[in-house]
Amino acid sequence: MGKADLHTHTTYSDGACNPAHLVKLAAEKSLSVLSITDHDSIEGYLSAKSAAEEYGIELLPGVEITTVYKQKEIHILAYCFDPGKNELHTALKMQRKARLKRMFRILNIISKKGIDISIEEVIAEAGNMNVGRPHLAAVMIKKRYVHSLQEAFIRYLASDVLGDIHPEYISVQECIELIKNSCGFSSLAHPSVLGSNELVSELIGLGLDGIECIHPSHNFDDQKTFIALAKANNLLITGGSDFHGNGKAYDPYFGIVTLSLDHVQSLKRLARRRKEIAI
Ligand code: AMP
Ligand code: ZN
Ligand code: FE
Ligand code: FE
Repeated sequence: MGKADLHTHTTYSDGACNPAHLVKLAAEKSLSVLSITDHDSIEGYLSAKSAAEEYGIELLPGVEITTVYKQKEIHILAYCFDPGKNELHTALKMQRKARLKRMFRILNIISKKGIDISIEEVIAEAGNMNVGRPHLAAVMIKKRYVHSLQEAFIRYLASDVLGDIHPEYISVQECIELIKNSCGFSSLAHPSVLGSNELVSELIGLGLDGIECIHPSHNFDDQKTFIALAKANNLLITGGSDFHGNGKAYDPYFGIVTLSLDHVQSLKRLARRRKEIAI
């Protein structure tokens, strides 16, 4: 029986591997289903299609959308959507702008702590793709403000260190609606990172289709709890390694933290139903 990884990043967001290389690595790890879920971008997914065909890997459309709920940033995974939907493209363009604005605010905050980095330096580090804090961390390392990605986050970039920076991301409710209108399904990414079961329950109440039960941040008990929660609420179970290939702590779990193919079949059934209803 094969295995799937439904949470990975490429150079189209803050990952280190280009899409074709990621597909090759996935084949080397004997993955049979892969989803590229870049932050607020589907470009990596689109440009991985030919490599996926070449390596005989089934590539599911994916994206990790950054949303806001009660001033907290919540990551929502979207899968199996129709990538041609205009509404989706428009929303992702707005997200890109929101990322830039947020990065300006972050640079302003850390400039008061003696860190002198321009938005142009961060954009260049991101290779003109969607900017994110890991790109900023990479510039901080190059300019010798910090020694590592982890140090950059602990001292300067973690959400609780930055405080409320009012990012202008899409709301959770709008995001769930957007994904449904794009004939895809939504899943709450790495719920343990939220640190509150109450918040997870509130978010489920907003109409999510699934929960990412399998993720390297989850210990065995977390995994059991989230699977039970998904089953109790009749939600899909998704999972993946959140591989970035940039030295992030989860990287060694690529090919190890995987989702079994029977879960993938359930996901695809719901996606098919959504598409049938839309016709
Ligand atoms: P952003 O898109 O700017 O919100 O940055 C999010 C990315 O930063 C995610 O892919 C995380 O993996 C990474 N990240 C978040 N917290 C940390 C941390 N404490 N250490 C290293 N990377 C982190
Ligand atoms: Zn990331
Ligand atoms: Fe995430
Ligand atoms: Fe991720």
